[in-house]
Amino acid sequence: MFLWTIFFGPPGNSKSPFLFFVLSTLFWGYPMYVFRCFPTTFAMMPGLHIFFIFNNVFMWYTFYYCYMRDPGFLPRNSSEYDLAIKKVAHFDEWKQGRNPLSRLCHTCRNVKPLRTKHCRTCNRCVMEFDHHCPYIYNCVGLKNRNMFAGFTTSVAIMTWMTLYFAFTLIELEGTNVLYVLGILEAFFFGFVASMLCGSAWYMAAKNTNTNERINASRYDYLKDAHGHFYNPYDRGFINNMKEFFLLKPSLTEEEVHRAKVYTV
Ligand SMILES: [Zn+2]
Ligand SMILES: [Zn+2]
Repeated sequence: MFLWTIFFGPPGNSKSPFLFFVLSTLFWGYPMYVFRCFPTTFAMMPGLHIFFIFNNVFMWYTFYYCYMRDPGFLPRNSSEYDLAIKKVAHFDEWKQGRNPLSRLCHTCRNVKPLRTKHCRTCNRCVMEFDHHCPYIYNCVGLKNRNMFAGFTTSVAIMTWMTLYFAFTLIELEGTNVLYVLGILEAFFFGFVASMLCGSAWYMAAKNTNTNERINASRYDYLKDAHGHFYNPYDRGFINNMKEFFLLKPSLTEEEVHRAKVYTV
C-alpha cells in the first residue's frame, strides 16, 4: 500500500499530489533555477541549460494535455446498453455460468469493450484504462497514455538534471539548506517519475497496461486455453508502438478471439 501511494498517489480524489507538483515547481524550483542556478552555471554549461529549458516546455505541454484532455471516456447512455439489458435473460453465456452483466456499466449505461474499465474517481468508463493518476488529476487511458509517457519522461529528465545542477552549486558555493531541500524534493520526484516512465515505455512495448498487469487473472481475454497468461494484443515491438501512438488500430474483439484460437 505504501508503494502504491508513492507511485499512484493516495486513495480517493485528493488533489494534493497535483498541487504539490505544480506549486513546488512554480514557486520553489523555478525561482531557485532563475535566481541562483542560471546566473551561476549558465556560462559553464550553456547546452545543458538550453536542453533543460526545452525539456521543461515539453513537460508543461504534456502535463496540460494529460490534465485537460479526454483520456478516452466511453460515451454514456448507449442504445447498445438498453438492447443488452433486454436480451440479458436469453444470453447463452448466462446459462453456462458466465455473467454477461460484467460487460455492462450501470453508472454510465454502456457496454464496455475489452480493456475498458470504470474509474471510480472520474466516475466514467475509460477505454484501455491504465490507472487514475493523482499527479495529472485525470485517468490515463487510450487517448492520453502516450502523452503521459512523455510527461513522466520529461519529469524524470528535469529532476535528474536538477540534481546535477544542485550538486554543481554546492560544489561552487558550499552547502546551503535551500539546495539540500531542493535535492531531497528532486530525488523524490526523480524516483517516482523514473519508475513511472520506465514502466510506461515497457508496457507500451509489450502492449499492456497497469490495470491488466495488476488484474490479469480477472480477465478471460488474457488467458490461453490452459488458463495461463497470454496477451493477444502483443503483436511485436513495432506494431505495439504504432498502436501506442494511435497510428494503428487495436485488435477488434473478433481478432482477439481468433488470435486465441490459433495459439492455444
Ligand atoms: Zn462506467
Ligand atoms: Zn479516473
